[in-house]
Amino acid sequence: MTSSKPIKIRGPSHCAGCKEEIKHGQSLLALDKQWHVSCFKCQTCSVILTGEYISKDGIPYCESDYHSQFGIKCETCDRYISGRVLEVSGSK
Ligand SMILES: [Zn+2]
Ligand SMILES: [Zn+2]
Repeated sequence: MTSSKPIKIRGPSHCAGCKEEIKHGQSLLALDKQWHVSCFKCQTCSVILTGEYISKDGIPYCESDYHSQFGIKCETCDRYISGRVLEVSGSK
């Protein structure tokens, strides 16, 4: 499997979602950034992503929104062709 899960970390930083300082409590490290746990949400439906997520261009989405926006449906069975797409970090 190639899905991603946020990693829980601690320590002062700035949230990539709301840009506020993360003072204490739990934050997430995802997409190479830190987020308040409550700020790491699907860009489309705002569901808080505590488990699996899919990112595109550094923006997190829940699985169903990712598929509905970027997924490819099988013409025959009308199911999304699976293939969790992970963000490919280009030039680093
Ligand atoms: Zn935040
Ligand atoms: Zn969503």
